[in-house]
Amino acid sequence: MADDDQTFTCDICGEEFDSQKGLHIHEGEAHPDKQVQELKKLLEKVDKEAEKVSEIKQEKQDLEEKVDRLRDEKKNLKNTVENLKATKDKLKDKLDSKKDEIDDLESELDDEKEEEAELEAKVSSQQRKIQKLKEERDSLENSLSETDDLLTKLSHQVDQFDEDIDE
Ligand SMILES: [Zn+2]
Repeated sequence: MADDDQTFTCDICGEEFDSQKGLHIHEGEAHPDKQVQELKKLLEKVDKEAEKVSEIKQEKQDLEEKVDRLRDEKKNLKNTVENLKATKDKLKDKLDSKKDEIDDLESELDDEKEEEAELEAKVSSQQRKIQKLKEERDSLENSLSETDDLLTKLSHQVDQFDEDIDE
């Protein structure tokens, strides 16, 4: 026995039927393209989902490329940092060797200054010696001249004696 109260309503035109079968027959006769429409809607939905999936895939790919680029940049930065460190080390070595050169030159200069001071001391010592010798020479010359005078004087006296004796 069929339930008299139950009715089946057509979604499109609102007509009511006693059975599911009746509604289906009506749909097939009155609205033959209904199922096609539903199928089309479903396909559109599937297309949209597929589009979304492809967008997400694209985003994922973009992100992966970005990560790759960042990795490359990081690598480049690392290389740059290492190169800079090497350059810094080289500069430091150069600076150290320049400092050593300066130290060597300064100690050479100090040695030369010491030698110069020694030479100056020698020169003034020699000059003092020369002065002393000159003074001694002068004094000797004086003595010689005094001796000469004395000799001349004595020789005159001797002559005088001779003359006295001869007379
Ligand atoms: Zn209908």
